[in-house]
Amino acid sequence: MKYNRKTKYKMSVWEIMDYELAIIGAGPAGYSASIYAGRSGIKTVVFDKIGGGGLALVSPNIENYAGFESISGAELMDKMQKHASKYANIHFIEEVKNITKNENLFTIETTNKTYTSKAVILCMGTEYRKLGIPGEQELQGKGVSYCATCDGQFFKGKNVGVVGGGNSAVIEAIFLKQIGCKEVYLIHRRDQLRAEKAIEDEAIAKQVKIMYGTHVDSIHGGQKVDYLNLHDLKKDKKFNFSVDGIFVSIGEAPQNTLAKELGVKLDEKGYIIVDRQQKTNVRGVYAAGDITGGLRQIITACAEGAIAALSSTEVLGKKYPY
Ligand code: NAP
Repeated sequence: MKYNRKTKYKMSVWEIMDYELAIIGAGPAGYSASIYAGRSGIKTVVFDKIGGGGLALVSPNIENYAGFESISGAELMDKMQKHASKYANIHFIEEVKNITKNENLFTIETTNKTYTSKAVILCMGTEYRKLGIPGEQELQGKGVSYCATCDGQFFKGKNVGVVGGGNSAVIEAIFLKQIGCKEVYLIHRRDQLRAEKAIEDEAIAKQVKIMYGTHVDSIHGGQKVDYLNLHDLKKDKKFNFSVDGIFVSIGEAPQNTLAKELGVKLDEKGYIIVDRQQKTNVRGVYAAGDITGGLRQIITACAEGAIAALSSTEVLGKKYPY
């Protein structure tokens, strides 16, 4: 056991800069990879640019993760974090800025320090896709939001719009209605939803008002959102529509910058290409979870994280434990 000279606190032998495995992203995939790596005796560090949990953190209710009939994303992520912390050093609010490979060693530069590792698992997940229209960026946090669970409470008794026609948008609209928003308008550019029928039926039962064939052209307001400029695509008519807030829920995009810089191959949508062992085209680099595309569910992210951790034993000179 070492001692920190300044604080005199005991430091675990894991408080070092050189690791065997670095995991980037502390969502379900990263947590699961940490557990499997740590239990295989791999010295593991995890970095997350914020507080971990990924997009699962803001899921109001998860009903398809085996063993939990119903659990909030926040509670499940808290359980995973506590579990993973037993096996890996997890560094929150430490963003990885750059990863380079030299021979068989990776150098990982973060906002705090520089580390090395012999293997890397990329679990950076996805981020919310933006509309890219006038007013969106300017009014973000002033009525433009990408997360009903995070910001919905501010709109109780108010009128809001939700943009999108997939499962996420419809679930967000139902949630907003449930927490007491006055009117919830689901604004979708096509004349039918992409969401599952059961979810669509629930939205209709909950009196979510669906505006089909409608495009949001711009968002207007000063200190807060006042109205949207909408385009009725069928009638080819533009009009202003008053709302207090707008929730954009039009899918996600992979956070692939680090992967690109490492020379990792991506598919046409920007997701990392992996084989069944979660290996990428770069030896020693593995990927798991939503950043690899596919089903994008918590349970598959966890499974991929476990496989990636065990696959990394091949470059660590360790015995594959199973
Ligand atoms: P998604 O299924 O890709 O749907 C995105 C929606 O946004 C589509 O309706 C799309 O319109 C619309 N859209 C995209 N770009 C737009 C733009 N620039 N302007 C206006 N509308 C735009 O995304 P998601 O709903 O986030 O779901 C992602 C994945 O997670 C899916 O596989 C989904 O099934 C899964 N998921 C599952 C559950 C569950 O409980 N089972 C819950 C949430 C998500 P178009 O329809 O015209 O393309």
